[in-house]
Amino acid sequence: MYLKLSIFTFLAIFFSPFLVAQDLLLTGVNVVSVETGQLLENRSIYVRDGKIKAVLPAGLLPQESQKVVRIDGNGGFVFPGLAEFHAHLPVSSDGSTQLQEESMWLYLANGVVRIRSMLGHPSHIALREKLNAGQLMGPRTYISGPSFNANSVTDPAQGAAMVKSQKQEGYDHLKIHPGVLSDEMKVIATAAKAENIPFGGHVPLDVGIHQALEDGFKSIEHMDGYMEGLLPSTVTIDPTTSGPFNLNLSSQVDWSKLPELIQKTLDQGTYLAPTLTLFDRYFGYIPADTFRLAPEMKYLPGMQIQQWVNTKKQLERAGMLDKEKVAPYLAFRRKLFLELHRAGIPMLMASDSPQVFNVPGFSIHHEIALMSEAGMSNLEILKTGSIVPAKYMGTESSWGQVKEGFDADFVLVENNPLLDLKTLQKPVGVVIRGQWIGREELQSQLDRIEKNHLRN
Ligand SMILES: [Zn+2]
Repeated sequence: MYLKLSIFTFLAIFFSPFLVAQDLLLTGVNVVSVETGQLLENRSIYVRDGKIKAVLPAGLLPQESQKVVRIDGNGGFVFPGLAEFHAHLPVSSDGSTQLQEESMWLYLANGVVRIRSMLGHPSHIALREKLNAGQLMGPRTYISGPSFNANSVTDPAQGAAMVKSQKQEGYDHLKIHPGVLSDEMKVIATAAKAENIPFGGHVPLDVGIHQALEDGFKSIEHMDGYMEGLLPSTVTIDPTTSGPFNLNLSSQVDWSKLPELIQKTLDQGTYLAPTLTLFDRYFGYIPADTFRLAPEMKYLPGMQIQQWVNTKKQLERAGMLDKEKVAPYLAFRRKLFLELHRAGIPMLMASDSPQVFNVPGFSIHHEIALMSEAGMSNLEILKTGSIVPAKYMGTESSWGQVKEGFDADFVLVENNPLLDLKTLQKPVGVVIRGQWIGREELQSQLDRIEKNHLRN
């Protein structure tokens, strides 16, 4: 007999980290293959020890085990879940892990089952350990170390030493920020390759897109550096007048320079994390006063929202975000995104949460909408959050698909996401490390977080 899912089962699963994992049988679901775009209709998914043991046609049920949590998928659609591959985890410097733990639930409630944290802190290593040990519910997490930038890197040798120490401290990835000099970058890149640790980030001005690609950036964040690489050599970049990300210069781009950049990117196997929503919200012309009222803002501390408002208003007051300045730049980014995607450059789903008006979890759906508006197909969008990031980490045979032998991380939604992307916003349930979390539980966690941040 299968055990019926009861309140007791729920309590036992969610509140006892020491409980022996139970098998899970999810029946009556349609499985979306993100590899082929095909739909496997009316399947059952059997999960044991955090792995997918079998994906079976209806009626072909596996051998019953003693403890099985059985869930009726009710004709819903299962896909491998979403990745947020440019996340910033809150830092716990005073010992409180509340915000970290809350953001884990914000991700899960939105179907995000993997994150790549892009700015490291020692408290993130402890967080990852808790997640891996099952003491805390949350996405699987890759962690970048503290930033390499103009302040933290003082010379090439010191940069190389920083690579070594971050690897030893247990970080999975390195984050490059503006200000690193060309000769420093070369040495950092060599050290990173020797330590077998991927690195990515911004393209420092002194390095430029061509060297960044040659040095082996595994990912370039925000499609940084491409616009500068497309400017005619007669244009001089003056950061005091060119605006954030040099957005005032977008009208001077020479598209005939793009094929060479595309070829170099393909040759180097570089991935891009476009973060379209970051630009739409942080540097877009929709005012801060509109975004501050978005419903998901209630899941973060009021002080954080106020900081975002202040940051954006400062740019607004300086006239930097006037529609006539910004709209051409946003249009340029969408075109660039689509051209690079169509050329076959792998794109990572990434929203840069929590940056200005991008609330963890919720922001991934803004990114999805923008990728779709720019012209990417639904299947390709799902790949950016599954197969592509799995390949990025060199782990494509263990996650990113709903397939036998893969990690049991997936999401159940009502409609077919190949036809309806909005269905991704409200998961019926999420399976993470083999454990089922239903919509009621996800909602009650959201309600709890909302209460923690009630504004007076
Ligand atoms: Zn970032």
